[in-house]
Amino acid sequence: MLTILENIELKPYNTFGINALARQFVEVRSREEAVELAKSGLLKGKLYLVLGGGSNMLFTGDFNGVVVNVINKGMKVIEEHEEDVLVESSAGEVWHDLVTRTIKNGWGGLENLSLIPGCVGAGPVQNIGAYGVELQDCFHSLKAIDLETGYERSFNREECHFGYRDSIFKRELKGRMLIHSVTLRLSKNPVLKLDYGAIRQELEAMGVTTPTITDVSDAVCRIRRSKLPDPEVTGNAGSFFKNPVVSGVQAEHLKNQHAGIPVYPQADGTMKLAAGWLIEQCGFKGHREGDAGVHPRQALVLVNYGNASGLDIISLAGKIQNAVFEKFGVKLEMEVNIF
Ligand code: FAD
Ligand code: NAP
Repeated sequence: MLTILENIELKPYNTFGINALARQFVEVRSREEAVELAKSGLLKGKLYLVLGGGSNMLFTGDFNGVVVNVINKGMKVIEEHEEDVLVESSAGEVWHDLVTRTIKNGWGGLENLSLIPGCVGAGPVQNIGAYGVELQDCFHSLKAIDLETGYERSFNREECHFGYRDSIFKRELKGRMLIHSVTLRLSKNPVLKLDYGAIRQELEAMGVTTPTITDVSDAVCRIRRSKLPDPEVTGNAGSFFKNPVVSGVQAEHLKNQHAGIPVYPQADGTMKLAAGWLIEQCGFKGHREGDAGVHPRQALVLVNYGNASGLDIISLAGKIQNAVFEKFGVKLEMEVNIF
């Protein structure tokens, strides 16, 4: 049975810790409730927003519509083979809980994605990624309710149109699908991915010579805890901007102009730049304007030191975008969803 609440404070529901009101707020605890909501007419003609853990969004004012918080729970093995398993998780499960439960069972694939905040249902939306692994690498399928029609749709990997921090759910189907479950294919004989960032150094520091998936997960957690602000302490939504991808020609030009600029070749011949490095070079690392700031250990993360508004954060983000464009001729695109 759906309960519609009015004028709900969203501060506890977004990791930036921004004060904003939702005109209406409804929790969805099951697939059936998602169908009921879509067919109820409540959303018709209104603005609405599907909310998971609120760790990839920024409210710039009150939300004058319906916030739909997906909190359904459950995880089960739906197929088991000699080499792998298919695990289906409800969208409202906490992502890191799914990671730790699968690792405990000895199933590999998610270890590099340890400690990403938020819920399972949001994972495919931006094809979450970290330490050289993306959700699409072990994605099998998902099930969603079309909030315009109330019908269920399944999406396989191809149908999700995954890209770098991108999917069909951020583009053609933006805001329309309520994902209620995600199925992953996890390996019983995992191949570890250690050649990214500081994973190898961290394993060495831990005294591990033949790492297991648990070791890799522990290493990733240790690195993340040492570098990233804990949203429980300082409001943030992780990387505020995407790493920009430029042509080979532009990357060559930038390398000639700016010694030491990190450039990562992509499979399609384009080059990825590190947005955090560009921002740091513009002098913003640790910069603060009132309660809006740039994290002192990772310039890609904008933070709320207490009472910043969404507009304070946006204003700082705009200054950063302008400075990076002026110095490097590169446009920074926001990764965080703005409402
Ligand atoms: P929300 O913020 O609630 O929503 C994000 C988007 O997904 C919104 O557009 C929302 O409408 C949509 N959405 C949410 N749930 C559903 C659903 N069930 N159905 C349909 N649409 C839905 N991201 C990475 O990719 N890699 C990282 O390493 C990473 N590290 C982070 C570290 C920190 C400290 C923080 C604060 C964030 C980090 N993030 C990272 C960003 C964020 O945690 C992820 O994008 C996460 O998947 C968002 O999950 P959420 O449940 O909080 O989504
Ligand atoms: P980092 O290791 O300091 O590296 C800086 C940037 O360089 C990263 O953004 C990463 O791109 C890129 N990079 C590093 N090594 C690379 C390699 N071998 N090949 C290709 N690209 C490489 O980054 P960090 O800030 O500590 O983050 C570590 C990982 O966690 C990254 O994968 C990052 O995306 C992820 N993370 C994401 C968020 C988020 O909110 N989206 C927040 C925190 C951390 P990529 O980002 O493309 O990997």
